[in-house]
Amino acid sequence: MKTHDGLNRRTVKDIERFLKEEAARARETIRGVMAERSKNEVGRSSDLMARATESLQDEMQVAFVDRLNRQVSQIEEALERLARQDYGLCRDCGEFIGVARLRALPFARLCRPCQARAEESPKDVADHATPVAVAVEDDWIRKELE
Ligand SMILES: [Zn+2]
Repeated sequence: MKTHDGLNRRTVKDIERFLKEEAARARETIRGVMAERSKNEVGRSSDLMARATESLQDEMQVAFVDRLNRQVSQIEEALERLARQDYGLCRDCGEFIGVARLRALPFARLCRPCQARAEESPKDVADHATPVAVAVEDDWIRKELE
């Protein structure tokens, strides 16, 4: 069994902590947006233009929360895989995904070659879509990606 080869305990701990922090942050943000939304519900404007702006903001907030919810479930899935010890293994070929890639994309489910292949065949795109990575917003990780 080639569980975690290349992923030492420390790295696993790091990733686990990172994932938990990300999940907590995402949940916190969702709560914030939801609280904001219910507050705004009360002060609905009757002005048509203002209402149009409000509904645009609504849509953006919904999309944003949606993205965060997806993120949280990806994180939870990754944590489950960590617990099951099959974290870091490519879903398609079973090879180890690689520490650098996991650090950049902690929810990655495919190794680089499989991801590239998946992106070339449009029918698989939805299934293999690159995981939303909060992490990419961090500079040090962006550098690793380049
Ligand atoms: Zn692969």
